Amino acid sequence: MSAGKQTAIELRDQIGAGRASSLDATKAVFECIDRLEPTVGAYISLFRDEALARAEDVDRRIAAGEPVGALAGLPVAVKDVLCTRSGATTCGSRLLEHFHAPYDATVIRKLHDADAVIVGKTNMDEFAMGSSTENSGLKQTVNPWDPQRVPGGSSGGSAAAVAARLCSVAIGSDTGGSVRQPASFCGVVGLKPTYGRVSRYGLVAYGSTLDQVGPLGRTVSDVALMLNVIAGHDPADSTSIDETVAPVEDYLTQVNEPVEGLKIGVVPAFNAGAEAPIQSAVAAALDVYRSAGAEIVEIEMPHLDYAIAAYYVIATAEASSNLARYDGVHYGHRTENPADYVEVYSKSREEAFGKEVKRRIMLGTYALSSGYYDAYYLKALKVRNLIRGDFTQAFEKCDAIAMPVAPTTAFKIGEKMDDPLKMYLSDIYTISANLAGLPGISVPCGQDGNGLPIGLQILTPAFTEGKLLRIGRMFEGATEWHTKKPAMVES
Ligand code: GLN
Repeated sequence: MSAGKQTAIELRDQIGAGRASSLDATKAVFECIDRLEPTVGAYISLFRDEALARAEDVDRRIAAGEPVGALAGLPVAVKDVLCTRSGATTCGSRLLEHFHAPYDATVIRKLHDADAVIVGKTNMDEFAMGSSTENSGLKQTVNPWDPQRVPGGSSGGSAAAVAARLCSVAIGSDTGGSVRQPASFCGVVGLKPTYGRVSRYGLVAYGSTLDQVGPLGRTVSDVALMLNVIAGHDPADSTSIDETVAPVEDYLTQVNEPVEGLKIGVVPAFNAGAEAPIQSAVAAALDVYRSAGAEIVEIEMPHLDYAIAAYYVIATAEASSNLARYDGVHYGHRTENPADYVEVYSKSREEAFGKEVKRRIMLGTYALSSGYYDAYYLKALKVRNLIRGDFTQAFEKCDAIAMPVAPTTAFKIGEKMDDPLKMYLSDIYTISANLAGLPGISVPCGQDGNGLPIGLQILTPAFTEGKLLRIGRMFEGATEWHTKKPAMVES
């Protein structure tokens, strides 16, 4: 029995029917971790004893005929950006290396309530700032398809863990692509829900108007299962949507229903910015949809080209404000022997924040400073509105928009580290969904000449995750890309 052989749904159904045990599945995951984790480096912390005890408890309850939750016994990995009562919550930062949160994030509570077995917390770019997980202050994660390459980021640990079968499903967070892009680099499925669909309570804040928690899995159905569990209004997060306005659907039950009369919009000139193998894979994916009866329509989105500039002003502005709380006083790293109280702030921050985080705090503080606020921050907000408008108009002509997830496949470790602008530019296809608050999915749709995975991105209007997942599943059901796995995974 191994979590590597089955999808999360298959495993869950077998555990629920008493045909497989959660303890065996969890042990098998830890065996994979023992074998591959020294190479992959997906986890910051592991909860071995706690996970095995929980798995045993789930098995006991199933055997006793007691009711269990929707994720009963499934080994799940969680990005270390979500607060957990158990263990540290580091956010990939040396500043929070020894921080123990006094409470569980709502998403964590929901996972526990659904009887998931949390195996560990995964590596990430420090405070989720990055596209390669190389900005982690704690460790390096590699891409299971090629250990010379990055897993993507910032949820690189979660994507690598799913791809290398070091868990069954995982949770990430997406501020500008951090679920979708690593999913695409690691050949798994990643979903960014609509802003407000999933509670952000207990999610360490990066860009509060952009951040959203999302699941990663090997199939669209596995991701739908996870969304069923984590979606919903939370009184502790005032930005989570009222369910009378936007009801939570049963995403899993409907996922296999194809969308009739589907119209998919594309912006050919925009998509042409991706490398040739990615363009071909996206074109081939569109053919798959055509064969399924969908119509492909050309749409115009004139402001997408400005998305990077707007995003990197808004995200850094929000980050500079959010990260002001790390003052060396309340919690997190504190400098030793400061000369005065000013040094408590300055040295604590200087010593523990990494280079990229400092760069962003400076950029964001600058954009918000008096005299520059109108020229940068306010202007970026106006661009954000124009991008939102582009989507509203586009969705009058189509149900969904298809585009690449990233302009390249997984790049080499170190390749973009000396050139932050190059790294930022690689986010071109993912950040618009965050600026507009829309849901987006990445589904494996091909491989490049080096055998590296390529992802297809689909975007739909706000709070239509049900339809989005069905559209993703239509492609997955007609192709084999989601069944491919890295060579390091035993067959
Ligand atoms: N790469 C983007 C950034 O660095 C997005 C990161 C994310 O979604 N957390 O801001």
